[in-house]
Amino acid sequence: MIIIMLGAPGTGKGTVATILAEGLNIPQISTGDMFRKAISEKTKIGIEAEKYISEGKLVPDDITIEIVEERLMQEDTKNGAILDGFPRTENQAKVLQKFLEEQGRTVNYAINLSSPEDEIIERIVNRRVCSNQECKTIYNVTLSPSKVEGICDKCGQKLIQRQDDTEETVKERIKTYKETSQPIIDFYKERNVLVDALVSKKINKMGKDIAQDLIKMIKGE
Ligand code: AMP
Repeated sequence: MIIIMLGAPGTGKGTVATILAEGLNIPQISTGDMFRKAISEKTKIGIEAEKYISEGKLVPDDITIEIVEERLMQEDTKNGAILDGFPRTENQAKVLQKFLEEQGRTVNYAINLSSPEDEIIERIVNRRVCSNQECKTIYNVTLSPSKVEGICDKCGQKLIQRQDDTEETVKERIKTYKETSQPIIDFYKERNVLVDALVSKKINKMGKDIAQDLIKMIKGE
């Protein structure tokens, strides 16, 4: 079962992907997390990726595709995976499809999250993430705060704000998303695997609610 998460930054891809991964017992593969790890470890890929990420731009396809394909060759993905943040270009979608087909797999669901832009910006600038790479739990200082300010409920480590979660970078990231997303959405629509979901406090549907609905749908409950 291969599930991919589509949607602008701050629509809740990470939150939904984490709950889906737990509920369906398959790993979550976040390209953003992989890049942030590479940046903190100052690897060659990390140093290259940082130039783009700090400006809200996409990391070039060759680097991104390589890390995803390598990850999808690992044993723990044999029953499936949730791809969170990949593909983000039409070329990535096409290369992924070919790669999966060569292994007798395909994308089963493409979850397309959307959210009003004012809510996106509010969610991103208030987002905090656990600094523990093994945990990475996501909080929001207004919508879903930790019990103790600045400390993760799950593992007790410090919460941090992502470097690219500033209002200025968010606007650039949303612009990038608008310029690149439609062909990817069309790609999966044509293959009948697209599932649209609106995340908004106005309709009382946040990422965690959407994730539960999706688990029921996928398990056929
Ligand atoms: P995310 O954590 O998914 O918001 O990703 C953070 C940043 O990593 C993005 O703004 C991009 O700069 C980069 N990134 C993540 N996934 C991709 C991808 N599939 N293609 C290119 N760049 C990516």
